[in-house]
Amino acid sequence: MTSHPDRLYYTDAYLRDFSSEVLMVDGTRVTLAATAFYPTSGGQPFDTGTLNGMRVVDVIDEDDHIIHVLDRAPSLAVGDTVKGVIDWPRRWDHMQQHTGQHLLSAVFADLFGHQTLSVHFGDESATLDLDTDMLSADAARRAERHANEIVFEGRLVSVSFEDARSAVGLRKPSDRDGELRVVGIEGVDRSACGGTHVRSTAEIGPITLRRIEKTKKAVRVEFRCGWRALDRARADFVVLQEMAAQLTAGIDELPSLVTMRIESERSADAERRKLAEQLAVFQVRELRTATAPSADGVVRIVETATTMDALRLRAQAAALESHTLYFGSAGAPPAVVFAASEDSGVNAGAVLKAALTAAGGRGGGSPRVAQGTVADSAALEAVRRDVIGG
Ligand SMILES: [Zn+2]
Repeated sequence: MTSHPDRLYYTDAYLRDFSSEVLMVDGTRVTLAATAFYPTSGGQPFDTGTLNGMRVVDVIDEDDHIIHVLDRAPSLAVGDTVKGVIDWPRRWDHMQQHTGQHLLSAVFADLFGHQTLSVHFGDESATLDLDTDMLSADAARRAERHANEIVFEGRLVSVSFEDARSAVGLRKPSDRDGELRVVGIEGVDRSACGGTHVRSTAEIGPITLRRIEKTKKAVRVEFRCGWRALDRARADFVVLQEMAAQLTAGIDELPSLVTMRIESERSADAERRKLAEQLAVFQVRELRTATAPSADGVVRIVETATTMDALRLRAQAAALESHTLYFGSAGAPPAVVFAASEDSGVNAGAVLKAALTAAGGRGGGSPRVAQGTVADSAALEAVRRDVIGG
């Protein structure tokens, strides 16, 4: 029936354990007369499991031989009989994703004429790349719905071995010679494929399409089948429910509620900024009242703080007062802000820039407000003496 009698999964994808003879042992690599272990191929990841209880950590298709890679060198000899056991939940998951991919590729081609360029099966989700530059959300919904209809119909998924020259009706013409392994979904699809598949579309379980993104040459569709679809839907619900509980709302109200929250946060921010500016005006007036003017009639306010934020606001407020100079400094990192009211006769930008340059710092600004940074507290003190004296 097949030219690969050693590949037990070709004719029975449901074979979970088997016995076979050891043909070759090379370090951790073992070849058997026949195996149910699927090697990485055609995008489908390899099976894991055990040989005589020893863990199989990789399965490779090499020069037409299937190599089982064990987690340690086995105590096996050529001619021994071993018992192989497939990690069934992992294989079953691959069969669901893989058969689901055949079905989705067929549906996208039949509904919209989009051919599948490539597929990728990842640990979390699988993707297929469609030969199109656009797939609307509505088209994706229709494809998802139609694929699930075919799941619910429980159509037969069959495997046949056919001569490449006489195999007709394949979705993608095969460039192989000789025998082809053809996987068919009753009334939907015929594709040449060497992977493992479920025997009925019903066993694919639910199919969900998720992220759809444009790549350079295709549209990439993320999908999940079977348990993966169910597990993700459950995880999505847990996230939504948590958010809904925090906002005391239903999950359907979340999008509009989150939009409202973002808007109200923005306006609260703007309001807070306005209040901080107003507060700075009063703080500067208080400081001004508490500070005796110098002989020239100008009030010189000097302030220190940990950060520059509040100092900057008070400098701006001071620049609007009369006969006022304001010098604020913060320690970490060393920074200064200097302001001069219009009637003070001082150009804040020019004066601060000169002092900063002399102290090895940098900065500048307008005639009313300027700021800059220096390397350390000694330089900071030098700038203060230069700019405002005392
Ligand atoms: Zn396949």
